[in-house]
Amino acid sequence: MKILVLGAGVVGTAAAYYLARDGHEVTVVERHEAAARGTSYSNAGLVSPGDATAWASPAALKTFLRALYDKDLGIKVRLRPDPYFLLWSLRFLAQCTAARCRANTDVKLRLALYSRDCINALTEETAIGYDERRKGILYFFRSKESLAHGAETYRYLAERGLPIEIVDPDRLVELEPGLAGARHRIAGGVYSPLDQTGDSRRFVEQLSAYCSARLGVRFMFGTDVQGLDIDGEVVRAVRTSAGPVAGDAVVIAMGPESGLLGRRYRIDLPVYPVKGYTVTMPIEDETHAPTMGGADEDQLMAYSRLGGRIRLAATAEFAGFDRSHRPEDFAKLLRTGRELFPGAFDERKAEFWAGLRPMMPNSVPVIGRARYKNLYLDTGHGHVGWTMAAGSGKLLADLVAQRRPEIDPKGLTYEFQ
Ligand SMILES: Cc1cc2nc3c(=O)[nH]c(=O)nc-3n(C[C@H](O)[C@H](O)[C@H](O)COP(=O)(O)OP(=O)(O)OC[C@H]3O[C@@H](n4cnc5c(N)ncnc54)[C@H](O)[C@@H]3O)c2cc1C
Repeated sequence: MKILVLGAGVVGTAAAYYLARDGHEVTVVERHEAAARGTSYSNAGLVSPGDATAWASPAALKTFLRALYDKDLGIKVRLRPDPYFLLWSLRFLAQCTAARCRANTDVKLRLALYSRDCINALTEETAIGYDERRKGILYFFRSKESLAHGAETYRYLAERGLPIEIVDPDRLVELEPGLAGARHRIAGGVYSPLDQTGDSRRFVEQLSAYCSARLGVRFMFGTDVQGLDIDGEVVRAVRTSAGPVAGDAVVIAMGPESGLLGRRYRIDLPVYPVKGYTVTMPIEDETHAPTMGGADEDQLMAYSRLGGRIRLAATAEFAGFDRSHRPEDFAKLLRTGRELFPGAFDERKAEFWAGLRPMMPNSVPVIGRARYKNLYLDTGHGHVGWTMAAGSGKLLADLVAQRRPEIDPKGLTYEFQ
């Protein structure tokens, strides 16, 4: 089949790889001049089934409401007259029960664990490099209360297949000597040994180059998707800035923009952009630098070690499609980074970035056929798209081929959302 993949982020590129490996003739349409110039450009770098817990939870309900007035929170809500945001919020709030949180987490963890196997196999097969580290990830807490609550959440994931170790501060510093200078701030944490880290931009750049050189995938860069030509139950072509492009099947993988396209064709695709910030800096002092990825759960900051660089990431901000950033957006991020890794990085060479998580109200991506006979979705991966991209691409390819998927797709496909 001739398959058009819309979007060359980590999700679209991984899908293109698996579809092309199945023998399809794949064309990727991307508005930027290169791959990974959207959200996949500079995320926190964690490939982390340990982060599979759904955002919508009874605790998130309180945080979401607090965010309306508390300006120093890692979660920020800018109220705007946007009916789509209002609708998204109502659907998010409906997912904030303990039962829905557990159900959504189960689905995400299933996909995230599978995806970890998929990315490892893909890396081996293609021999691409992306500053990957397979040393595990540390999730740590500053107070005994938050540690007790967090450990409970991780035990839930452990019962469902995520290996973990609950660690006290001594063991934590033994695992991560870079945190020695911050030992007094930390009450304990959770070590997830099979979680890993890597640079998603480099992954996408390498994988897209591999796909075009080895699998014959065609990338139409600098080409804007403008609409779909639909004839009854079938999408005939994608309308683009370079003219119509016909295909036998179309995959929407446009990250935060997916919902904008879907809505025009009566597809219920409530993907909403949730802004986050990252800063990437060269390591100056190895003795205080992290050797693996981690998350300061009380400060809501994640970090990873990418080759000779450190990346810090934080904030969930509801600000529409605004991707701008100001120096003050990074103040807390840098302060927390200095507290944890004093003197480790060179702030004068910092690269600042803001991007938009493509977030579904239930935090679960949607993968598979939707509404039209030959239209597929692979989108809505929210805060863990780097973690789930490979598994999502493989699952999508299995569904397109009408093969039995290697994991149960229940909860992930369009009908179940
Ligand atoms: C601050 C931050 C930290 C994060 N940390 C992590 C992490 O540690 N681990 C993790 O797993 N995930 C993380 N994420 C989430 C992860 O980065 C995303 O889920 C993932 O990158 C989404 O990939 P995507 O391919 O769906 O979207 P994108 O990377 O945005 O790709 C979509 C592509 O579609 C293109 N496109 C859009 N509209 C059009 C159009 N009209 N025509 C043509 N092309 C179009 C865009 O240009 C873009 O290239 C983080 C996100 C943020 C913001």
